[in-house]
Amino acid sequence: MIAVLKQGTDEKRTEGLIAWFKGLGLDVHVSKGKYNTVLGLVGDTQKVDIELLEGLDIIESVKRISEPYKSANRKFHPMDSVIEITPDVKIGGGNFQIMAGPCSVESEAQIVDIAKRVKAAGATILRGGAFKPRTSPYAFQGLREEGVKLLETAKRETGLPIVTEIMSAGHLQYFENVDIIQVGARNMQNFDLLKELGKTDKPILLKRGLSATVKELLMSAEYIMAGGNNDVILCERGIRTYETVTRNTLDISAVPVLREQTHLPVIVDPSHAVGIARFVKPMALAAAAAGADGLMIEVHNDPPHALSDGAQSLTPEQFADTAAAVRRILSERDES
Ligand code: PEP
Ligand code: MN
Repeated sequence: MIAVLKQGTDEKRTEGLIAWFKGLGLDVHVSKGKYNTVLGLVGDTQKVDIELLEGLDIIESVKRISEPYKSANRKFHPMDSVIEITPDVKIGGGNFQIMAGPCSVESEAQIVDIAKRVKAAGATILRGGAFKPRTSPYAFQGLREEGVKLLETAKRETGLPIVTEIMSAGHLQYFENVDIIQVGARNMQNFDLLKELGKTDKPILLKRGLSATVKELLMSAEYIMAGGNNDVILCERGIRTYETVTRNTLDISAVPVLREQTHLPVIVDPSHAVGIARFVKPMALAAAAAGADGLMIEVHNDPPHALSDGAQSLTPEQFADTAAAVRRILSERDES
């Protein structure tokens, strides 16, 4: 971290500030220029309250040189992380996976039928919401623990690993047979939940918050990793902007940016990003071309009658067409 002092700051106050930094266990490198004094702080600068420092009348500016996320940072872990979901299904480091399934698990017949059809079309992980975060308390809230049980049935029938969303750490007991625990956009900064998930040994799919920056997403991943769980998959799912023609705005640039800043796998959910089924395929292709490690796509066997997110759900046939087109992009990506 670098702190630039205001012109004319007297010696006594400069010494006082240096003593304060040293008291925090930091080494201070002082360089006196013609006009300004610059202090280079080395050590665990996490302890420095940057806002407090910026508020001091003798401070001109403060800049962090290294990012506050250490575990997720590619600088300290240059190789891509490869997360093993099952011995056959890995994600990251060149392993691309497609998660597909309905927004909500609605019945055994529905989830088993969709599971078989998405598997046949090339999906390698089955998604389905059981604990549903809905904007309205009057909307379908999901089948909750019963929904997780139905996902387990579909897993037994197809062999597909399953991913489903958790909304409260108090529900962890229901996730024992779940292969990937999803943290939804609305809970990206539910820090107590993230801390509890850091104590588990399950891969976590962390979705970007509706208005969260890339850095905030990485800091949330850091919460999980700081607890000892390094198996975090990041998911760009669209952010809220002034644009209303789509449900959200897919921040496709987040993919190469995240791939540069972190070693964690990065996937894209084009369904929640656009909210309109016919725009899902082009965004899925864009995500694959941009270097994503996987996709999450909502698929329903009867979209007009889906209990949630029917408008953005692909039919199994549309999904098969999308998955085939994604594979074509991936084979070109492998060649280049
Ligand atoms: C979901 O994947 O079912 C979901 C609710 O997504 P998000 O948290 O991205 O809105
Ligand atoms: Mn949904």
